[in-house]
Amino acid sequence: MDARVVVLGAGFGGLELSTILSEELGDAANVTLIDKGDAFVFGYSKLDVLFGRATLDAVRLPYREVVKPGVRLLRETVAAIDPDARRVTTDAGVHEADVLVVALGADYDYAATPGLSVDHEFYSVAGAAGLATAVRSFAEGHALIGVCGAPFKCPPAPSECALLLHDELTRRGVRDACRISFSIPLPSPVPPSPETSAALVEAFAERDIELLTGRRVVALDPARKVARYDDGGELAYDLFLGVPKHRAPDVVIASGMTEEGYIPVDPGTLATRFPGVYAVGDVTTAGVPKAGVFAEGAARVAARGILAELRGDDPPAPYDGVGTCYIEFGGDRIGAVTVDFRSGPRPTGVFGVPSPELRAEKERFGSDRRARWFGR
Ligand SMILES: Cc1cc2nc3c(=O)[nH]c(=O)nc-3n(C[C@H](O)[C@H](O)[C@H](O)COP(=O)(O)OP(=O)(O)OC[C@H]3O[C@@H](n4cnc5c(N)ncnc54)[C@H](O)[C@@H]3O)c2cc1C
Repeated sequence: MDARVVVLGAGFGGLELSTILSEELGDAANVTLIDKGDAFVFGYSKLDVLFGRATLDAVRLPYREVVKPGVRLLRETVAAIDPDARRVTTDAGVHEADVLVVALGADYDYAATPGLSVDHEFYSVAGAAGLATAVRSFAEGHALIGVCGAPFKCPPAPSECALLLHDELTRRGVRDACRISFSIPLPSPVPPSPETSAALVEAFAERDIELLTGRRVVALDPARKVARYDDGGELAYDLFLGVPKHRAPDVVIASGMTEEGYIPVDPGTLATRFPGVYAVGDVTTAGVPKAGVFAEGAARVAARGILAELRGDDPPAPYDGVGTCYIEFGGDRIGAVTVDFRSGPRPTGVFGVPSPELRAEKERFGSDRRARWFGR
């Protein structure tokens, strides 16, 4: 294939899209996959690191293990994107593309929440690793899990954090000396699925976890250990476990591709308004949540669209916007929510009651992707 496909970002979206092109085209794929990091980490592994269930080394999947016919994986930092010319400038040079795919994910906007830093959030690998020490030594006082903006990745993740913290404090025999609160700007933990939200609310009540909905943390005063809210209220804490406000990476915003912070795409094809340029995953506004399973589903459709274009075939079926997220309920129990974002007038979700089958499914979710992308 003569067409040069340049994929920016080797996360869920970029890895899946490059894998499909390699499977279909082999050595002729001509894919350049670019990422600034040297390893991929599943989002949910950050909770494992935060609660000392895994080391950083154990959850890092090094990019050097991505060996695919027709795919060149380069460790470079994207410095500029010209979507009209389909030209990408990195810290190492310039890449010209016939087809460009932007899969750079969502970054964290610390400055949007004065006082918040990597020391107070568990959504980055560095943040989770840093807070693991604080969690391990926390034995009395008020732990506050606070969300600083929506949309945020994996909507159930802060709920999981609250439930796993309860387990951790119970295991160490200090739960009675601690208060756990969880605040979220949304009206319920998982709005598209009232059943899932009800199950989580019940789990919080059983564990004496205080849930504050419709409240967003707007500032943190680490010296006084106080979180300030959008309704003017304040809450004192001893341990703050935060979800930072998200936004598209600076380089994407500077490219002129974004509207209201993210790249608008055709939700059925993942095409941007720039010919030959696609965008998938958390960097887009595609009408689906920011989660790996949705980034991957979008990448599959974009990959099939690219293949159809290259081969002169009919376009693939549009992206269905259906995905399943697994939810840690604590006590080693794993439930799930499957949400359909595109077939009806509004999203609908089905709750999967925690079960050994769902635990096995989540394990398979990880092992399948480790095998498919990293050959493990
Ligand atoms: C605590 C937590 C738990 C989660 N649990 C789940 C879960 O159970 N299930 C689920 O489906 N999702 C989960 N997620 C969400 C999931 O991790 C993300 O939604 C997913 O990674 C998005 O995929 P993506 O391909 O859009 O972006 P990403 O996976 O974020 O990939 C983007 C890539 O772009 C690279 N990049 C960014 N800027 C540059 C640049 N300038 N130059 C070069 N490279 C760059 C980054 O290094 C990164 O590798 C969770 C997230 C968190 C934080």
